Amino acid sequence: MYSTACPSCGAPVSFKSAASVMAVCEYCRATLVREADAVRDIGKMSAVLEDYSPIRITTQGVFEGRSFAVVGRIQLRYEAGYWNEWYVLFDDGQGGWLSDASGQYTLTVDIGPASDAPVFEVLKPGQPYLHDGEVFTAADIRSAQCTGGEGELPFRVGEGWEARVADFRQRRRFLTLDYSDGLTPLRYLGTAVDLDSLKCQLLRSDEEIVHRAGRLRGRIASLECPGCGGPLAYPAGVATQLVCPACGTRSDLTGDQAVVLGKQRELKSHTVSLELGAQARIGGQSYTLIGMMRCQEAGETGFWTEYLLYSPRKGFLWLVESEDGWERVQVLDDWPVPAPSSNSAVRLGGQNFQKKVSYRSVVRYAAGAFNWQVKAGDTVGITDWQAGRDKLTQEFSDAELVWSRAVPVSQGEIDGWFGRTSKSATGAAKAGPKGESGGGLGVMAKYFSGAYLFFNLPITLFADGSWILTLIGLALLWWPVISNASGND
Ligand SMILES: [Zn+2]
Ligand SMILES: [Zn+2]
Repeated sequence: MYSTACPSCGAPVSFKSAASVMAVCEYCRATLVREADAVRDIGKMSAVLEDYSPIRITTQGVFEGRSFAVVGRIQLRYEAGYWNEWYVLFDDGQGGWLSDASGQYTLTVDIGPASDAPVFEVLKPGQPYLHDGEVFTAADIRSAQCTGGEGELPFRVGEGWEARVADFRQRRRFLTLDYSDGLTPLRYLGTAVDLDSLKCQLLRSDEEIVHRAGRLRGRIASLECPGCGGPLAYPAGVATQLVCPACGTRSDLTGDQAVVLGKQRELKSHTVSLELGAQARIGGQSYTLIGMMRCQEAGETGFWTEYLLYSPRKGFLWLVESEDGWERVQVLDDWPVPAPSSNSAVRLGGQNFQKKVSYRSVVRYAAGAFNWQVKAGDTVGITDWQAGRDKLTQEFSDAELVWSRAVPVSQGEIDGWFGRTSKSATGAAKAGPKGESGGGLGVMAKYFSGAYLFFNLPITLFADGSWILTLIGLALLWWPVISNASGND
């Protein structure tokens, strides 16, 4: 470890890693570049946006049997959001990155330069890259701007520094090619992780996160629509874009406040089975319906609706409603691999999925909160792969490739998950006044049948045959309630 005094404020500054070339002074935010046995102040580093990440400098953990400590971080912003890259130092001096993108974590370690990598400009999602005998597939290609940093870092980074990265995936493994520093990219290898599996210690507590960020990640917060002033609900630290259901204004939520991005021309004219804000209980977890999209196959006339649900514990889930019924759709962390001896099938969890159809899907209408930027007219390429009732879907855009799995769901299951907030509930809500009067009648009938029994109890008990009259009396009292309830259905 190398320690010195900050040339700007005199506070102690240390470099724990021999590979670190830069550190940000904790006290005055001076960016200090290490040169031989001295440090040079190259100006102030922007402060990081205080967000919901439970990770901090000093957080420790274990990855694949090796202990690491977090020593620095950079925040990166791209057009659809931002994420944190935490620089970690392993006990043996190797460096790595623990990435936190709205609670999706990956840990990758530096495995040296990739002289065989294609140039950044020609990379496309879906492109293969062979590493160590395994085919990795390009999943995500993006350029991002560094907007802030802290702690020590393995390269010089400052305001306006641009990261150019491509993430490749193979099953659960990640391989990142980082083109930020020159022509030969650096290669990082790792997996998707969660903080429990990393046995993380010295994380920020919930109280600290609330104190610094205002609330916890995933909690439903609300703000006024910058277009019409109406209330908009969104999960804090998770949603990056809001589309106002009342006026169609699209706002960006990635900064400190909502920034207007544009306006959607089409307003909701269709009826939907589920409404924004609806609560569901699925698999023992609470979900909130935060967004919906109405989509159409390019060149076709039919529509389907996609509902985005969020659970602070389980993350995102999609419910898709089409003329074929309902599907529950989950984005896959474990990617399928090409099936052996077939070029029209992929394999996942011991099952072969046959390639079925490819088409283009167009968003016609969107409302609510989303974790990416969506607008009417957005188009993605889709390929469906089928195994019995199970379906895998591959979704391509210019920057991303996503795999998800869809399973059919019955209307009964949907109704069960949402209580009475689905189709049947909409009917009940429309029949509100009638339902209320039914409720009133019910109360009255209960009161009167109670009184009836009270006054007739001695006769019911002691006089032979009078219990039949009692039953008839009760039936007459309850009749308006029973007929009213059946009228509602
Ligand atoms: Zn300083
Ligand atoms: Zn609005």
